[in-house]
This record gives sequence, C-alpha cells and structure tokens, in this order.
Amino acid sequence: MKILLVEDSPTLRHATCTYIRKAGHDPVVAKCGEEALQIVDKNPIDLIIMDVEMPGLDGFETTRLIREWLGSHWVPIIFVTAHNQEESLREGIEAGGDDYLIKPVSSVILSAKIRAMERIVDMRNKLNQANEELTFLSEKDSLSGLYNRRTFDMKAEEHWKLATRSQEPVSLLLLDIDHFKLYNDEYGHQSGDECIRLISTALRRCLNRPGDIVARYGGEEFIALLPNTPEAGALHVAEHVRKTIEALHIKHRGSRESDRVTVSVGLSLANFTTGTSLSHQISLADKALYKSKRRGRNQVTLSAYTPDASVLVVDDDPTSLSVIEKTLEGHCALITTQNGEECLRLAQEMRPDVILIDVYLPGVNGYELCRSLKDNAAIAETPVILISVCEEEELLRFGRQVEANACLQKPLDRHQLIAKIRQYID
Ligand code: GH3
Ligand code: MG
Ligand code: MG
Ligand code: MG
Repeated sequence: MKILLVEDSPTLRHATCTYIRKAGHDPVVAKCGEEALQIVDKNPIDLIIMDVEMPGLDGFETTRLIREWLGSHWVPIIFVTAHNQEESLREGIEAGGDDYLIKPVSSVILSAKIRAMERIVDMRNKLNQANEELTFLSEKDSLSGLYNRRTFDMKAEEHWKLATRSQEPVSLLLLDIDHFKLYNDEYGHQSGDECIRLISTALRRCLNRPGDIVARYGGEEFIALLPNTPEAGALHVAEHVRKTIEALHIKHRGSRESDRVTVSVGLSLANFTTGTSLSHQISLADKALYKSKRRGRNQVTLSAYTPDASVLVVDDDPTSLSVIEKTLEGHCALITTQNGEECLRLAQEMRPDVILIDVYLPGVNGYELCRSLKDNAAIAETPVILISVCEEEELLRFGRQVEANACLQKPLDRHQLIAKIRQYID
C-alpha cells in the first residue's frame, strides 16, 4: 500500500517510515498538514498515518479537509497523538479518523493496525469493483456491449428534457438487420450472435460524438439518439452507418437483396422537441424503418412529415415570420401571407385549423382583420390568435373586443407559441 505519513517531528518521521517499510509498504511523507493536502490531491494514497499535534493545520483539521476533498472516496486515516484523553479520541473520530494510537507507538502495534486497515481497504476495493460490474450489467447489453433498452429510455428521456430547454434539434435512428432470421437459419445462431457483435462495434465507431446515445433496442434492432443534429447531419450519419455496415462484407447467402448483411434504417427528426414526445418520435422512426424494408431494404428513410393540421400566418415582419416558421416546423403545415386582404381569401379557400395574426399590418390592421373573420359565418369558428409587440393589457382588451381566441406578446416565446397552437389543433 502507498501510506502517507504526516508528521512534523523528524525523529518520529524517520522511525515510523522504517516501521512502514518493514511492514512491506511504501511510505510518502508530509511534514505538515498543508503538504499532506497537496500530496493527497496529486497522488493515489491507500492509507494515512496522521500526527495530531502539528504547527499550522493540526491533524484533525487536515483530516476534515481531506475528507471534504475526497468526498465519497474513502481512505483510512489513523491518528497518532501524545494525548490520551477520551475527549481527544472522540474529536479525532468525529473529524473523520478511523483509529487512534497513543505515542510512543511500537513497530508491532503499527504494523498490526496497518494490516487491519489493509483488510478493510481490500474489501472496499472488491466492493467498488462489484458495483462497477453491476452497473455495467444493468446498463449494458451483454452480447453487444451497447446500452440496453432500459438505459436508452432513461438517458434519452433525460436528453429530451435538456433539448427542450436548449431548443436544439434531436434526431432518432432506428436500425434493423435485414433478413436476419434467414442469416441464423443459414449460418447458425452463434454466427448470428457474432454478426450482432460486429454490427454493434461498427455502430459504436460511427456514432461516437459526445452525447450520442446508442443502444441495442431488441433482438436485431438498434436505436440511436443524436443530440443537436438537424436533418442534413442526421441523413449523413444514417447513410454513413448503412454504408459502413455494408462495407463489413459479412456474407449472407440467404438475403434476397444483397450478397452480404445489410441494415434498414428509419430516421425521425424533432427540430424543436416541445409539443412532441420521445415515444412519438420513436414511433415515427419505426414507421420510416418499415418503409425502408418495404422499398427493398438496405436503405435509409426519413420519416416524412405529413401535416394533419394547417396554420395560416399573417405577418409582414420577415424576422418574426421566420421565427414562427422555425418553431412550428414539424408540428403543422404553414400558409403564410403578409397581407390582411389576402388572409381573408386564404382563410375561405384553405380552411386552416388556426389563424395567427400580427396586429400591426399595412392596410387593414390585425384587430379589424379578426373582426372580419369572426363576422364571416363560414370561418367564424376558426380559432384566431393575435400577436403583437404592444402592452399585454391593451392587446388582451382589444383582442376580446374582436373575439380573438388568444393573444400572445412579441417577441414570441417559442414554447408558448407551440403550446397555444397545439391547444387548438390536437
Ligand atoms: P427483416 O429484414 O424484415 O427485418 O427480416 P428479419 O428476418 O431480420 O426479421 P424477423 O423479425 O423475422 O427476424 C428477426 C430474427 O432475428 C429472428 C431471431 O431469431 C433473430 N435474432 C434476434 N435476436 C437475436 C440474437 O440475439 N442472436 C441471434 N443469433 N439472432 C437473433
Ligand atoms: Mg507533532
Ligand atoms: Mg426486427
Ligand atoms: Mg430484421
């Protein structure tokens, strides 16, 4: 063991070091508490023998600081002191010490105490190792070494919440080995297992950006969450994964589509995770994967967004319009115009599910426009949301007068906008 001896007396330092060596251990010395802290900070130490009476930081203070510094990592500390009062012993144990010896300490006593502590350190090491193994077993899939489904669900859900806060795009990849049943039939189950291992290694290599969460999701199915990855990047990664697996050249005589093992990939994107859930996103990737299978396997399909609701946006400010477009992308189809009269026409022709109107428009203003919409029996039921930079109270008051269904202040809060829109289209 590496034993740190903290002792200000040169004579005792020398004698104790000799005892430590005799007991078969490796002493490191500190002449005071401050030096001890520096050593503990930079070196792995297995046991500390600490003098209590020292100039500067005394043994108890040094111990408190070491315990604070090491946190949950426990290193046994034995005090050596000339004080044999009970109160001093109590204080030492309270400060974080594990044993307490009265000077002068004989070689026999010291080596026996070191031996006893060594046993506890051994036990702790075994326990830590067992814990690490248990964590590995519970988080990872034993065949592939990738995360298992449970861990993926946990980590992905955690990231989902983070992405909602940071407003970042998230991509999901679902992969399934093509004709894997036939592969097993042809080459046997063990070769099948080996194939899963090879593909897992390839996946780990391709999806190695910090934050990527890759898991074995089922028998021959894999899943990956790619943080902060918009469409172009995600498509590139998915295609790279597919090609890499194809390039492994794992022979597959049974496959109808290729002479080697291939994968089909489904890809779904959430440009903005508010208003959609991880499980919904996974089901979209699953549908896209199914399409890849139907179209002949060994390919990537991006989950095509099929808008089931449309929102008509009337805003003459290009910046504001662009924020609205970015926010609602993937949630609904947008019809946009900068002009009030045009809005009336579009509302009748296209029958949008919601109409979003900026109050300050050239020509007819947003309040008047809302009034006209509500006076038109054919579209009066369509929810109208007014948006404006003006005072909230004023906006609400005028909004109520023209029967607007909701009012939002600019600059728009993107979460609030999605929540409002979804309230009307879900
Ligand atoms: P498709 O291209 O439509 O995905 O066809 P497929 O044969 O891959 O799909 P299917 O779902 O019919 O069969 C999946 C097979 O994967 C069945 C099962 O025996 C095999 N499989 C699942 N898990 C393992 C595993 O851990 N090891 C081995 N060797 N085979 C597995
Ligand atoms: Mg001393
Ligand atoms: Mg499958
Ligand atoms: Mg399959």
